[in-house]
Amino acid sequence: AEIDLGALRANVRALCARAGDAAVMAVVKADGYGHGALPCARAALAAGATWLGTATPEEALALRAAGLPGRMLCWLWVPGGPWRQAIEADIDVSLSGMWALREVVAAAREAGRVARVQLKADTGLGRNGCQPGADWEELVGAALRAEAEGLVRVTGLWSHLACADEPGHPSTDAQLARFREMLAHAEARGVRPEVRHIANSPATLTLPETHFDLVRPGIAMYGISPGPELGTPADFGLRPVMTVSASLALVKHVPGGHGVSYGHHYVTSGDTTLGLVPIGYGDGIPRHASGTGPVLVDGKWRTVAGRVAMDQFVVDLGGDDPRAGAEAVLFGPGDRGEPTAEDWAQACGTIAYEIVTRIGSRVPRVYVNGKELG
Ligand SMILES: *Cc1c(COP(=O)(O)O)cnc(C)c1O
Repeated sequence: AEIDLGALRANVRALCARAGDAAVMAVVKADGYGHGALPCARAALAAGATWLGTATPEEALALRAAGLPGRMLCWLWVPGGPWRQAIEADIDVSLSGMWALREVVAAAREAGRVARVQLKADTGLGRNGCQPGADWEELVGAALRAEAEGLVRVTGLWSHLACADEPGHPSTDAQLARFREMLAHAEARGVRPEVRHIANSPATLTLPETHFDLVRPGIAMYGISPGPELGTPADFGLRPVMTVSASLALVKHVPGGHGVSYGHHYVTSGDTTLGLVPIGYGDGIPRHASGTGPVLVDGKWRTVAGRVAMDQFVVDLGGDDPRAGAEAVLFGPGDRGEPTAEDWAQACGTIAYEIVTRIGSRVPRVYVNGKELG
């Protein structure tokens, strides 16, 4: 997997331009959507992002331990999480309920330091976040009391959108209205957040009214469109960062009627050549790509023949005879004629987010254009 950090920096610059006065938080959870959290975080900061965002506290702590500077927010906590380590590492932590506030207050007391907390509102996603109404009023009130005691500082009020990738979906306006109400309640009670934020990639790209003080793009930073209906990466001035390719491990002639891979779900229709691609579901290639995943070999699109196995799959090369070692490109930016992660997503009935994120640790990442060349 080649990771083009020059493309990533250019994508972050494009997102900063779109964000205007809002700050940009580069979301580098899940090992930077499979691209490598550390190099991508460094490149994003070099290109103008001022915050890093992760799901788990462990992810944020690993970034800090590697020496990454600046503000960081992590939002997916479970009881007993490493609150004290996060406070001591200057990481902002998200609170979605009273249990989390109690734990962070106890950790702040132990550490003798002020915890920076961001209160997360569920404005309609129905996932993490505090429910509006009595739950929110209770959380805001308790956070203000902890702030008055010098144990926490409420640095942010925030939420997450459910359908920003579906243009015109009525839930987006409903969530924004709910968010404004929940902000107004907290601010009327005396909360003075540094940042209010709700925008993910699709909202950053297409809904300026969602930008508030900060935007949190993830997938767009990696050069992938958050949804095919919204546009292509090029429509947004973005370029895919990851290219996955392999060297053919074997090319051989076989007769017609030859079954290919487990279950013989593919049978050659006549004399042909088969190419063996040494990457499989153990590397994150979806088994759902069996019979459908596209691969560029020698300038032509080929299709995964039969089942994707743990370590390998086969393509029917139709009599072409490239040498073993010839390059098979699974996906990349598309400008050499290769498929894109979006093509793989469509072939597998999933989203491009999943295609890049699941590329596993057995696939070496090779970083290119890592120097800050402007
Ligand atoms: C993953 C995530 C994002 C980034 O979403 P994209 O659609 O990849 O831009 C932003 N905020 C939260 C809370 C997330 O979990």
